[in-house]
Amino acid sequence: MPMFLCPLFSGSKGNSTFVASDDTAILVDAGVARANIDRALGDINASLDIIKGILVTHEHVDHIRAVGMLSRKNDIPIYANEDTWKAMLTMNSLGSIPFKNRVRFDGDFYIGSLAISPIKVSHDAADPVGYSIFNENKKAVVISDTGYLSKTVLNRMLGADACLMESNHDVHMVENGPYPVRLKNRILSKKGHLSNHDAAQALMQIINSGCKNFSLTHLSQDNNTPEAAYDSASAAALTLGAVAGKDVNIYVAPQFGPGDAIII
Ligand SMILES: [Zn+2]
Ligand SMILES: [Zn+2]
Repeated sequence: MPMFLCPLFSGSKGNSTFVASDDTAILVDAGVARANIDRALGDINASLDIIKGILVTHEHVDHIRAVGMLSRKNDIPIYANEDTWKAMLTMNSLGSIPFKNRVRFDGDFYIGSLAISPIKVSHDAADPVGYSIFNENKKAVVISDTGYLSKTVLNRMLGADACLMESNHDVHMVENGPYPVRLKNRILSKKGHLSNHDAAQALMQIINSGCKNFSLTHLSQDNNTPEAAYDSASAAALTLGAVAGKDVNIYVAPQFGPGDAIII
């Protein structure tokens, strides 16, 4: 049975991705208001009632804004690693969550038929992760909010059937843009966000490993455009002879509302 992936919201104003097998549906992050997630799920013929868990990547508000509310109102378990839990609880970002819905992972785990494998990334948060998600013989990777992709992380992405990967900014737009120097340095640092260029470099290696489905995520609204991210990725694919839209699918996830779904 296929696995279905769809970015619902993507960018610094909030992130959430829907992932489902035939019998298990989850969210990766829930960084916009619950009502918006509810509506976006309705747009793709899903609903909050079927969500079996929320995987948290890291404690920044654009990833967890509605996590506590969703968990309380819909009785959904929250999955995060130890340091991310500590950070969320210290900042009291979630409100009160019953113990049974606080799931700490330390390694791989299952939610229903989905096997989940966290991937440590490089970002200015307590212990940020992306995820590999396996269903039968298919593998999807969801990675964002990482300043760079180490060889270790890239190796974990190879062989994926679908890759939802950050393509945050165009380096020249950051350098020449209006942000204060400190913020520019943060974005461009190894613990900031992934540039279009670095995403495109990774995409080539991931295409070479057999992947044909990409969604570019977490685009900056000030330092990127959907066209710039798409052009960078599709040009990289073309250097391998892979034509976007024909040999590989390259989508750009919008900030508000569901993007293109990937079915693998
Ligand atoms: Zn973010
Ligand atoms: Zn972040």
